[in-house]
Amino acid sequence: MRHGRLSGPARPSIVRLENSDLPIERFGALEELDVLHGFVRRIQGIALSNDKAAVLASLDEAHRQVRHRLALAERALATVRQVHGSEVAVIDRPLKNDHCFDNCDGLITNQCAVCLGIYVADCCAVYLVDRKRRAIGLLHSGKKGTALGIVGKAIELLKKKFGTDAADLVVQLSPCIRPPHYEIDFAAQIVEQCRDAGVSKVHDEGVCTACHLERYYSYRAEKGRTGRMLALLALGRAAQVAPGNGSRR
Ligand SMILES: [Zn+2]
Repeated sequence: MRHGRLSGPARPSIVRLENSDLPIERFGALEELDVLHGFVRRIQGIALSNDKAAVLASLDEAHRQVRHRLALAERALATVRQVHGSEVAVIDRPLKNDHCFDNCDGLITNQCAVCLGIYVADCCAVYLVDRKRRAIGLLHSGKKGTALGIVGKAIELLKKKFGTDAADLVVQLSPCIRPPHYEIDFAAQIVEQCRDAGVSKVHDEGVCTACHLERYYSYRAEKGRTGRMLALLALGRAAQVAPGNGSRR
């Protein structure tokens, strides 16, 4: 286990969190599947900023601890530059290091050694899991990405690259901003896009980020001076680990 980064010299902007304090939200619909996942909520004590890069740097250490806690620390973290577009990166071979894909807002993979990550603060993180084939996707779908149909594009790519049947997909929407705090109900549009693509198992608890600033960051409610939640998704290792080793998911 790599603990080196946690025991180095203290940096003033970094908040040390006990494992029990890490605010990780889990989704029941994904708990049943052979995947590892989490949605990292607002982290107390992190300085907010209008500068996305600065706030991500401040959140980085806590997010590393979350990956460690979720048994994802050994996986290469794949993220996207997030330009409110509809391009989806395909990861069909192992990544040697953490990698951020430019000009993309979504990721799909069939690689067990990769962890997908998406940052959001009001936009929706959309988790896609193929229950039969080993394939997953994670998307950033806000007002623009939803209008561009990123979910439908990702489902098409899953079919094309990994042979996914939409009927085998389980989709989970993260908390995101909704009416009346936002003028457009893009979460409802995402659900509709999933159904149009043939997905029947679509889960959305209807939680609004701007309604719960104690738990979530909200770009709109905090006028841009905010943080980012981190959505994480990786394939499980049920097929690869010895019995009894992978039961505590
Ligand atoms: Zn609200």
